[in-house]
Amino acid sequence: MDYKEIIESVYQKVDTIENTGELATYIPELATIDPEKFGVHISTISNTNFGLGNFQEKFSIQSIAKVLSLCLAYKQLGESIWNRLGVEPSGSSFNSLVQLESDNGIPRNPFINAGAIVIADILISNLKNPREDLLSFIKSLSANKNIAYSPKIAASEKSVGYRNVALCNFIKSYGNIHNDPEEVLDFYFDLCSLEFSCEHLSELFLFLANNGQTRQGKQILTKSQSKRINALMQTCGFYDESGEFAFKVGLAGKSGVGGGIIAIHPNQYAIAVWSPKLNKKGNSYKGMRFLEEFTTLSEQSIF
Ligand code: GLU
Repeated sequence: MDYKEIIESVYQKVDTIENTGELATYIPELATIDPEKFGVHISTISNTNFGLGNFQEKFSIQSIAKVLSLCLAYKQLGESIWNRLGVEPSGSSFNSLVQLESDNGIPRNPFINAGAIVIADILISNLKNPREDLLSFIKSLSANKNIAYSPKIAASEKSVGYRNVALCNFIKSYGNIHNDPEEVLDFYFDLCSLEFSCEHLSELFLFLANNGQTRQGKQILTKSQSKRINALMQTCGFYDESGEFAFKVGLAGKSGVGGGIIAIHPNQYAIAVWSPKLNKKGNSYKGMRFLEEFTTLSEQSIF
């Protein structure tokens, strides 16, 4: 499969479409990003690596990081984490509070904010130095060790993070947050502030296309755990647009409000796309279009 040729042709096509989305202005720092940035990078199991556009530029990965924190919690604690949160699509927006009341403080899945906040709480309870340990875990996923939180983005989100504060306190009222909400939220904001390039991101996530094993041969998750993370990305990775992504693209994936998307084809590749303008559901407008065209032209999707 000549992914290079396909990516070149799809990139050209999508680059010229009208970019109708909006920046995620609710986080002040994200409102300052150049909306015309557009990058893509693929890393394959057979060791093809190819990128186009702004693929070497770092951007705020936001909710894509929720996959990484989930993988660490799953690796450390196994199936017991599912006592604290579910594995069902929410059908609601990423920061919704509504279902938590009827669900008694048990978030529907780990990729909505409520679920990622519970995972942050689980990590705080089980790690000596959660911030540093998470970075070490991420460093173990690829050869690139250039990883850091962005204090600027974390502070920017914290300054307006009223909804996440509400979510965390609401879940705490049901007993499903065990630590101090402020500590949990600070860790959650740090997690969301991680910045990577498309190139680095596709390398990091390749282990999920490779049955839980990195290119360097390190077994990060078991085969079954890796399958399950992919299944969750497939069903819950795009908020209430997850069905649409499965329908049009047919890959496991996760988006973030920084305009990034990581998508996985098990046993084939990980591909990262970045274009900061978001559609109404909070997913990168051009990123979605790119991946739809990419799986159509390559005829390489899970289904
Ligand atoms: N840090 C963002 C928030 O909590 C993450 C949202 C996202 O990327 O979906 O609002």
